[in-house]
Amino acid sequence: MSVLHRNRLLVAVHCMVPLLGCAAFAQSQIYWGDVHMHTTLSDGKGDIDEVLTYARDVARLDFAIVTDHDFGSGAPWRMSKETWDYIQEKVDAYTVPGKFVAIAGYEWTSQAKYWTEVGENVVSERLFPGRPKFYNHKNVYFPSRVDLIFSAKDVAYESPDLLAEAVQKAGGLIQNNHPGVGPEERDQWGYSPSFYPVIANTEMGADTTYYNGKSYESGTEKSVRDFLNTGGRTGFVKGTDTHGGKPAARTAVFAKELTRDAIFEALRNRRNYAVFNARIGVDFRINGHGMGEAIDIEGKPQLTVGVRGTAKLREVAIIRDGAVLRCVEPEETLATFAGADDSFGGSSYYYLRVTQADADEHGNLSQAWTSPIWVKNAASERTR
Ligand SMILES: [Zn+2]
Ligand SMILES: [Zn+2]
Repeated sequence: MSVLHRNRLLVAVHCMVPLLGCAAFAQSQIYWGDVHMHTTLSDGKGDIDEVLTYARDVARLDFAIVTDHDFGSGAPWRMSKETWDYIQEKVDAYTVPGKFVAIAGYEWTSQAKYWTEVGENVVSERLFPGRPKFYNHKNVYFPSRVDLIFSAKDVAYESPDLLAEAVQKAGGLIQNNHPGVGPEERDQWGYSPSFYPVIANTEMGADTTYYNGKSYESGTEKSVRDFLNTGGRTGFVKGTDTHGGKPAARTAVFAKELTRDAIFEALRNRRNYAVFNARIGVDFRINGHGMGEAIDIEGKPQLTVGVRGTAKLREVAIIRDGAVLRCVEPEETLATFAGADDSFGGSSYYYLRVTQADADEHGNLSQAWTSPIWVKNAASERTR
């Protein structure tokens, strides 16, 4: 993609947020949140007050989603109605529009042992007939009060399709949690395309992570890319999945104001991106349209990229249909470039991946991944 060139005239990064050009982003601001947090209501440390107070006052988040497991080991098999009501009361009490938004959710925690014996040393909790399903976990959250949660241990909601149908009716949203390439994620993506609008986002992350001197091949980005490559639609979020009471900024949303409805509107439209370890400022447009959009264009896609790092940028990569289309190594904190994708074939998705030179205490580099933009040229599709 040699025509994509660094364009020093595009210096909008210095006043990058909000970035303008299309109606959805006009007057939008970036708000930072954590979409995955546990408390003592399941297996986390820190009660819900401590975790929300930490999110608001220490992590300085704009929004936070409480997502305890829908059951607890040794606890009743399903989050009780009393607990769910308590969570909903708490998030309402903490929400002050314009200052901080707390959201009630839970983690739909599907496990293969609900179907049958799954191997040595695993105690079956057989609830459902058939072969074991490895659906992995999904966070479910709602903009307003809902009577009961839809539990992974309830036969009425044991599959992603059954869950999505119920959540859609209740006005909520779902995200795919910690995807990967292991057997535990085998059926993770097995849901109907008709539910792409409600299973709106997925937790994005690096393929390899480091912890206490060891490396782990989770294959997170690969798993997400494989889903996108088969026509799947998802935006990108990230959460800490904190079980230690320490939320942090992991998801950026472009919303018009800091209210629960506006945060949901952004997440529903995938106007969000995932970060790890740093609040990296990212703007990514195609023909003026922003992340999360599906657009029809004439001619070639015109891409514009603006990144404001919190440290030196090691790499800024445009991914098209699962492969790196263009990669720059700025070695400074700002990067802007623009140009056309001359090899565009008529239908592609694009996302931006940013990698900084700084790392957390385990050696994981700070990163950002924007939700994809899906681009189609109806004319070139017709002439194929
Ligand atoms: Zn989980
Ligand atoms: Zn979790």
